[in-house]
Amino acid sequence: MFVPKKNEPLSLHTTYRIGGPARLFFEARSEEELLYAVDWAGREKVQTFILGKGSNVLFDDRGFDGLVIVPLLGSVSIEGLIVEAGAGVSFSYLGIKTARLGLSGLEFASGIPGSVGGAVFMNAGAMGAEVSGSLVSVDVIRGGGTITLLKSDARFAYRYSSFQDEGGIITKARFQLTRDPEAADRQKKYLAYRMRTQPYDKPSCGSVFRNPSGLFAAKLIETAGMKGRGVGGAVVSEKHANFILNTGTATAGDVLSLIALVREKVQEQSGILLDCEVQCISYDGQIRSPYSHHLF
Ligand SMILES: Cc1cc2nc3c(=O)[nH]c(=O)nc-3n(C[C@H](O)[C@H](O)[C@H](O)COP(=O)(O)OP(=O)(O)OC[C@H]3O[C@@H](n4cnc5c(N)ncnc54)[C@H](O)[C@@H]3O)c2cc1C
Repeated sequence: MFVPKKNEPLSLHTTYRIGGPARLFFEARSEEELLYAVDWAGREKVQTFILGKGSNVLFDDRGFDGLVIVPLLGSVSIEGLIVEAGAGVSFSYLGIKTARLGLSGLEFASGIPGSVGGAVFMNAGAMGAEVSGSLVSVDVIRGGGTITLLKSDARFAYRYSSFQDEGGIITKARFQLTRDPEAADRQKKYLAYRMRTQPYDKPSCGSVFRNPSGLFAAKLIETAGMKGRGVGGAVVSEKHANFILNTGTATAGDVLSLIALVREKVQEQSGILLDCEVQCISYDGQIRSPYSHHLF
């Protein structure tokens, strides 16, 4: 049933714990509900934003002037080496579950706090692996219906999928894994490494900048002397310099100012212009460059 909430604080639905209210907010528990919500928004000319687990988005302090839709599609099926998961399934859970069944290909996902839909959209990756490595096909809502796209129908690169340019709502993804009795050990090692090297106890969006080819953004930020530097309630993590943390009172404005400052200092020090990985969503629903001072 389509009964959206009104003025729902987006800070409750993002790992940054930042973002003003969404004018309308709806968690779709089935594909029918999802299709209905999208169709309703089209008819009523209300802009929409598809939200997964909010672990790679920075919403405006004023919120979002439209309908935020969360596809809570949570089915998982495993048949032989083929794993099929709904867009709302925890990507980390999927990585842990498959690895513990002795299946390899998604163990890198353990600890990535996104949804399967968000992971495909971002081509999430870690430990030298990424979503596109084991992806077979994706179901996507486009033009009022659901179609199945093979991996070769889309394009993928480092933290990029062509869904970022071509749109559509991802409802399901299928992965082809391989049998490997060491997958579970690897998954545990990856998770332990993450816990050791990343600040998991504070709200963040994970890595803010993409790694430039052959280099590490965190190293460049550290070398530019930005570890521990802050703006308002936002601070560059001492543990991992590519993480910007919300110390409790950070606004989107604080995070954006800090992103701009870090980028400027890294460029001054190394000549390298870092590229932001976090999706910054303005009040009117545009995904914009975080470097524009006129963003929010
Ligand atoms: C502590 C921490 C560690 C992290 N570590 C990693 C890491 O190792 N590797 C990595 O790649 N990322 C990492 N991230 C970032 C983040 O978890 C990933 O980018 C993740 O894939 C985002 O998924 P999400 O569901 O949270 O997407 P959201 O943040 O909700 O959305 C991100 C984008 O995806 C779109 N989207 C979401 N769901 C759908 C859908 N069903 N259909 C169409 N579009 C959709 C949204 O519109 C938005 O543009 C980390 C984040 C945190 C907080």
